Amino acid sequence: MAAKFCSKCNEKFDDGVLFCKYCGLPTTRSEDEIPQVENKKSRKVVLSIAIAALGIVIIALFMIIEI
Ligand SMILES: [Zn+2]
Repeated sequence: MAAKFCSKCNEKFDDGVLFCKYCGLPTTRSEDEIPQVENKKSRKVVLSIAIAALGIVIIALFMIIEI
């Protein structure tokens, strides 16, 4: 977690650097954006697991009804 990356150009930041030397984006802003991206990703994973589980339940119900 020590290495920080620019959210705009994905260049690695050195410790103590306030702005990205490639695009000028403040490093503090990218720190705030990283958890948001992780939240969106985990939400997508939870959503796809929920949809998959729902599909399995529906398939299981159809199999039970046919038997
Ligand atoms: Zn940058």
